[in-house]
Amino acid sequence: MCENLKVVRLFDPWKSQLCSCPVKYSLNPYTGCGHGCLYCYVSYVPKFFNPRTKKDLIRFMELDMRKVEKGAIISISNSSDPYQPIEADYGESRKVLEALTKYSVRILIITKSAMILKDLDIFRKLKSAVMLTVTTLKNDLAQRLEPFASPPFKRLYALEKLVENGIPCGVRIDPIIPCINEEEVEEIVKEAKARGASHVTSSTYKARKHNFIRIVREFPQISKKLRKLYLENGQWIRGTLYAPEEIRREIMERTRDACAKYQMTFSTCREGFYDLNNSESCDGSHLINQKNPR
Ligand code: SF4
Repeated sequence: MCENLKVVRLFDPWKSQLCSCPVKYSLNPYTGCGHGCLYCYVSYVPKFFNPRTKKDLIRFMELDMRKVEKGAIISISNSSDPYQPIEADYGESRKVLEALTKYSVRILIITKSAMILKDLDIFRKLKSAVMLTVTTLKNDLAQRLEPFASPPFKRLYALEKLVENGIPCGVRIDPIIPCINEEEVEEIVKEAKARGASHVTSSTYKARKHNFIRIVREFPQISKKLRKLYLENGQWIRGTLYAPEEIRREIMERTRDACAKYQMTFSTCREGFYDLNNSESCDGSHLINQKNPR
């Protein structure tokens, strides 16, 4: 793996020992993200919710790509959404993808926006797979949790269109927040399967001060339960508060069982429950080489 890169970075999420991702790179076309998700883990970065472009992004990317080995996985993106609203004005994600068509690499897109459909023509030229994040099917809840991302029905529509166009897709049910969206898991799996997704990656919510404050402010009626779960009984893992292990495991087992019911592969993300995973990769990158099931 290459080091001394400027914008195509080695993926190493807070050096988490619980990350079981394959070796890959991460490329964020924007600094910050305008989706404004309450639970966002990256939003400790100053002005994170005021996204901006990166100076000379494509030039630096081209320089980095000279060092990146053939066949490498590039994940776009892990610390911002490539199809956040600003993309409609600047099209930096499209420019990045267009430039990447020259290289023999594999692209994994992670998004919660239906804007991805504008780039279908480029995905057909790339070895790629898409992970659509769907945390709820309820418009009103999505509006509170992820105020500027696409509503759930639009994400599901995008999923269906991507699959129809031969792009392998999975879904991230991520994060599952106790008392907020945990009861919807099976329904999300069912809807994702109906639209052609073949894999689910999931995790429980991990509390950091900045995101926990936003969540309990928005959902005061469950703040007592969340405080008990995380602040009183939670477990610190590398600077992040996890819910108690037995509760996380129960939620992840339920999610795995729902995936088994609808014949989808399943993996957990940074939970440490490797025994529950039944897919080749935990992040959906194995889908890149797969033929679309439809
Ligand atoms: S889409 Fe991802 S990076 Fe953007 S605000 Fe939401 S959680 Fe944060």
